[in-house]
Amino acid sequence: MQNFQSIYRSDVESDWCPGCGDFGILSAITQALGELEIPPWKCAIFSGIGCSGKTPHFINAYGIHTLHGRPLPFAIGAKMANPSLTVIAISGDGDGYGIGAGHFVNAGRRNVDITYIVHNNGVYGLTKGQASPTLKRGVQPKSLKYPNLNDMVNPIALALASGYSFVARGFAYNVKHLKEIIKQAVIHKGLALIDVLQPCPVFNTVDTKEKYMERIKILDGNEFPTTDIKKAFEKALDEENLWIGIFYKNPEKQTYEERYSEILSSYPSECPANLKMSDEKGNPTTDISEVLNNFLC
Ligand code: SF4
Repeated sequence: MQNFQSIYRSDVESDWCPGCGDFGILSAITQALGELEIPPWKCAIFSGIGCSGKTPHFINAYGIHTLHGRPLPFAIGAKMANPSLTVIAISGDGDGYGIGAGHFVNAGRRNVDITYIVHNNGVYGLTKGQASPTLKRGVQPKSLKYPNLNDMVNPIALALASGYSFVARGFAYNVKHLKEIIKQAVIHKGLALIDVLQPCPVFNTVDTKEKYMERIKILDGNEFPTTDIKKAFEKALDEENLWIGIFYKNPEKQTYEERYSEILSSYPSECPANLKMSDEKGNPTTDISEVLNNFLC
């Protein structure tokens, strides 16, 4: 087993607030990568903007801090370019379910083989606690002048509806449980969402660690994960209990990479790598003189 301490970059100083759930998520990721023995040069981690965006800074792997709401397209591009990489995308709830909501839904339709971890704390912590898409209507953390006016998004139900082939929820303060979910998500063939309940003790004074712990229940491993999407929806929409664990897993679903390979094998002449660039004498097969002449004008 790889020593996870060699994956965690202790030389980079963290500016996360004391008690932030981000620490637990970071710990779970580094432990999972260590136990899966994924070397740093075989792992690429992409983040968006927000407190969660700093996560790759602390991990000894390729780390790319991208744009607000955009870690998924970057991560998908990297996986398509180099399928041998383990690719992880990281967002906050505002980044992933707000600004990046279009990418979130459409990534589900493609089912590229990557893992998406979303730090979900109900607020935009980096910009002082505005309501994010996962804050419940009517609640008023100390950062809001009025109770929240908008209904919340249910990320588990949205992922199921969008086509994610692995859908899970973890809790940042249950690192051992979260680590196991991350390991399974990375091993899973297809797009995996892990929504992580991540208390922000500074700005979300409603969804605290203690409040979460009153409602959290762990899914029964004998029944879940399931390939029965109706059962997964039932648990996702349960308003009384806050279930954590793997709701749904369908490794049989074709990935985007597999679909694309089929296209290329059916239409080999369309494959860029199969296009002839020159004839037998080495002369280019494409005449680009007209394009060049336009540039020279
Ligand atoms: Fe964590 Fe909230 Fe501080 Fe951001 S503002 S680092 S989410 S506690």
